[in-house]
Amino acid sequence: MIYTVTLNTAIDRVIYIDGILSRKKNNKVKRTFYDIGGKATHVSVVLSRLRIPNIATGFVGEKNKEKLMQLLEEKGVACDFIAQAGCPTRETLVILDDAGEGSFMITEKGFSVHGDTLEKLRRKLSEKVTEGDFAVFAGSLPPGLDGDQYRELLQAAAEKGGKLILDTTGAQLRSAIRLKPYAIKPNEDEFQELVGKRLNTPDEYASEIKKLLQAGIEYVIVTLGKKGSLVGHGDEVYRVLPPKVKEVNDTGCGDVFVGGFVAGLHQRFPLEKMIRFATALSASKAEQPESSAFSPERAEQLEGEVVIRRLPA
Ligand code: ATP
Ligand code: MG
Ligand code: MG
Repeated sequence: MIYTVTLNTAIDRVIYIDGILSRKKNNKVKRTFYDIGGKATHVSVVLSRLRIPNIATGFVGEKNKEKLMQLLEEKGVACDFIAQAGCPTRETLVILDDAGEGSFMITEKGFSVHGDTLEKLRRKLSEKVTEGDFAVFAGSLPPGLDGDQYRELLQAAAEKGGKLILDTTGAQLRSAIRLKPYAIKPNEDEFQELVGKRLNTPDEYASEIKKLLQAGIEYVIVTLGKKGSLVGHGDEVYRVLPPKVKEVNDTGCGDVFVGGFVAGLHQRFPLEKMIRFATALSASKAEQPESSAFSPERAEQLEGEVVIRRLPA
């Protein structure tokens, strides 16, 4: 089984404004709808769309959890969240207007996770995730959870042989490295922060990636937005160039990349096929306005355009 774990879940409230969003004016709404907020939840959406069984877990606020569950279930995702009573799941306002310059995002912090809520998730992960399973942790920490507690959750998911796939950042990522996760997927900024220096060339990236491979991480993937990615596995690092597409919105490309990668692991794709698939799928996301939209059909057309080169040792 594949478990996706989102600790700071969100519901996106997307609002399209008629005209340009302006102060001191009645901004009229053209269209509004709810969408699933990232991060690991989006990985579940990708997997379910590809008909790969998975369970989405993490924390939700009891008050409006039905809305999020409904959005996920509409996309075929099985949910098994821990709900905290008396709290709302946070809402993120995503405001788009006719300026064509991207969206405004207004995010809430989320509710503070109590000790007993944390313990319920820890126990669930420890009981359910076993040998041969993957546990995908993606996104930020909610208020009330510190790095040590985060590591306890990771340990619970790994203690019976579950493989950890991490898409996270900052201090959390740094402290999780000690547990030798199976795979990590920082983006360019997150990786430079992790290694504590600016990296300018693919070879500079490759040498830092190799250190992490040698420390026992099976896959070290650094995504570079429209510049593609670097994929480290075994003793090798590959430079991956994505297909050229018209970028409409790159928010969520990383989540779709992780979804494609995990789908590839589940199907035991050879490395090259896995890279092509995840890269083409995330490129298809860049062409779409919504942060969780992508197209497997389009990805199939794009796969052949992905260029993979082994970097010199
Ligand atoms: P997020 O956290 O918003 O989901 P991210 O910053 O973690 O995203 P990126 O590095 O921006 O992830 O993108 C992930 C992958 O998506 C890239 O490695 C690339 O393969 C693909 N991608 C992103 N933008 C484009 C683009 N404009 N054209 C083609 N592929 C893209
Ligand atoms: Mg990015
Ligand atoms: Mg990301």
